[in-house]
Amino acid sequence: MKAIAKAHAEPGLQIIDVVEPEVRPGCVKLRIEHGSVCGTDLHIYNWDHWAQNRIHPPRIVGHEFCGTVVEVGEGVTRVKVGDFVASESHIVDPSSPVYLAGNGHVDPTTTILGVDVDGGFSPFAVIPELNARPVPAGVPHNVASMMDALGNAVHTVMDGPVEGQTVLITGLGPIGMFAVAVCKALGAAKIVATEVSPYRIELGLRAGADLVLNPTKENADEVLRTMFPTGVDATLEMSGHPGSLALAIERTRSEGRISLLGVYSDVLRMVDFNQIVFKGLRLHGIVGRRMWDTWDQMTWLLTEKGLDVNAVITHHVPWQDFDSAMQQMKSGEAGKIVLDFSGG
Ligand code: ZN
Repeated sequence: MKAIAKAHAEPGLQIIDVVEPEVRPGCVKLRIEHGSVCGTDLHIYNWDHWAQNRIHPPRIVGHEFCGTVVEVGEGVTRVKVGDFVASESHIVDPSSPVYLAGNGHVDPTTTILGVDVDGGFSPFAVIPELNARPVPAGVPHNVASMMDALGNAVHTVMDGPVEGQTVLITGLGPIGMFAVAVCKALGAAKIVATEVSPYRIELGLRAGADLVLNPTKENADEVLRTMFPTGVDATLEMSGHPGSLALAIERTRSEGRISLLGVYSDVLRMVDFNQIVFKGLRLHGIVGRRMWDTWDQMTWLLTEKGLDVNAVITHHVPWQDFDSAMQQMKSGEAGKIVLDFSGG
């Protein structure tokens, strides 16, 4: 069969010939229906410093996907042939005390699908049973392909109270856009975001933001100070931009919460830690999704709370056109891009 892979230690991704994987004990074989492109895939495509140090080619990429179980390995009990499932990218040791305590997402022994082991951007994939999460009826299949990324947003938003709260979301990448939709579904009193790309500002408004400020065009700090004189209840920092972190600390109310999903490359910029102390702020780093609390919350949001993420899904392409999808991602003029594998 063919698969999208990092074939060589150089920029780009290729379609290569690989042996169709055989099911293993504790694993299930999936016929992939949809995949969705993630920022992580772009790092791998660009072959940046992180990717060079982490990826060992040849590696089939893709950690956000969904499909139908076509075969189960020895010892598999939770899912059966015919089940429609979505991927969770964290591969954990199910006997690890860290995982059993509910913290598999930060277990040092956790590895990642499509990064450390072969992923699912191919017509068939074999993954551990635990990583194949049954998709409830009513969840659209294109959304099922991005549960992993949506989970990042749900994990960040639901890190604290949301209903009736004023929320600032700094950075409207796809996860920031998801976060807007999740805040909306949970009944936030006001959702204000910051974003520099006009394309993403538009998507953020469509996802349900009340206002999106462009820090290159207006003084976000001043506008927020006028709107919320005592500060916002919660800030979700999703940009990885030091200026956004500073804004979060400045404009979150005393005893408010700041949930940090953005990853910072510029470690030299000083953060006003005294303000964190004197305002009694609570900062919490967010990585991945809780296994399985976040999945339960996502299911509840999608099936009971009317969470609608359609505004975030901007492109659907046949999987053979992945290169144009990567270019589209690179341009920044994209929300989530869905790859269609249903034609085989
Ligand atoms: Zn992802």
